[in-house]
Amino acid sequence: MATLNTHYLKLKAGYLFPEIARRVRVFTEANPEAAARMIRCGIGDVTEPLPLAARKAMHEAVDEMGTPEGFHGYGPEQGYEFLRSAIAKHDYRDRGLEMADDEIFISDGSKCDGGNILDIFGKGNRIAVMDPVYTVYVDTNVMAGHTGEANEDGSYEGISYLECTAENGFVPEIPTERVDIIYLCFPNNPTGAVASRDQLTAWVEYARKHGSILLYDAAYEAFISDPAVPHSIYEIPGSRECAIEFRSFSKNGGFTGTRCAFTVVPKSVMALALEGESRPLHPLWHRRFTTKFNGVSYLTQRGAAALYTEQGRAEVSGLIAGYMHNAEILREAVAACGLQVYGGVNAPYIWVKGPPGATSWEIFDRMLNEVNIVVTPGSGFGRAGEGYFRISAFNSREKALEAASRIRAMVW
Ligand SMILES: *Cc1c(COP(=O)(O)O)cnc(C)c1O
Repeated sequence: MATLNTHYLKLKAGYLFPEIARRVRVFTEANPEAAARMIRCGIGDVTEPLPLAARKAMHEAVDEMGTPEGFHGYGPEQGYEFLRSAIAKHDYRDRGLEMADDEIFISDGSKCDGGNILDIFGKGNRIAVMDPVYTVYVDTNVMAGHTGEANEDGSYEGISYLECTAENGFVPEIPTERVDIIYLCFPNNPTGAVASRDQLTAWVEYARKHGSILLYDAAYEAFISDPAVPHSIYEIPGSRECAIEFRSFSKNGGFTGTRCAFTVVPKSVMALALEGESRPLHPLWHRRFTTKFNGVSYLTQRGAAALYTEQGRAEVSGLIAGYMHNAEILREAVAACGLQVYGGVNAPYIWVKGPPGATSWEIFDRMLNEVNIVVTPGSGFGRAGEGYFRISAFNSREKALEAASRIRAMVW
């Protein structure tokens, strides 16, 4: 009989979002009227329409495909040159960072890239993640067999959880033990925290000293407003030897449903092949792409490239400004209640410490029942998130304003 991948059996049933959905369903059945006025501030999905620049480019690409001369079949697996070069130029070279076009790999999402990247690493690596964490990093490592069993609290044996607390500004301390692959996400989902140049420099130094690889998730870099905060790990000297960066058009260009993202693998990033022999990862990632992927659609890549035009950039700035204004409105409302609020300045997520002694789920239930607002319980992102909750700024202005006024009316 065929056997299955037993590592999948270690996975805890996706607990967070199904449990939110269950509680919302129970509430809705019991209180249909209140449910009609429910505001969802829990999801990490964008709400505003696709930029016109991207839509126009995709319309034109469809028409082009309808002609014999303009038809496109299979494209390059790693992405079309027009998009790779636009990214390398606008996101890196124009900002003074060294980057070759062929160090950019176009994909259908950072979520997939984050899981797929594990294909090119060996089995014995020690993995470190931030706690609270974007759960994709953990679950993909469980599936790949890089962990032991789950503990009572939902953490896994064999993973190093780097605690992010109010005391360390939600930027983890450099570990004292050796870890080989380190996931960093800044601006962070769920805490909204950013890392300073000095903090990132310390991580790059650690990685270079120990031969570790940093997997740097910069999905929210476009939301950074503070000019001192790095947008890319490659702003840190030495990072081209030890860091892989993930970026996505999902949150800046509203592409969550359109699907386009990219990975940056500098040719100088090396890992150990045999004891004593290090080799570049770039050819492995290239090989993985050409073997297991047939590329993102031409239409989508045209749409993504249009985000780098003058009009596209103006529209992206407008979208981000809109969401960040929501963040400000929501931040102020929470602060006015006397609660400690973090994030929401360089990221579209607001991370709130609940009243003393309240668990994340208790706060979730109170907000659902008392003001019909759905938030995300912090404990769902890891043990260090207990007592916190996340509010997403991805909403219409109207809903953000209404949510803010209801939060202000709550007696905490
Ligand atoms: C939304 C998000 C992404 C983007 O994922 P896509 O698959 O590109 O839509 C990546 N990382 C984090 C932490 C996110 O929240």
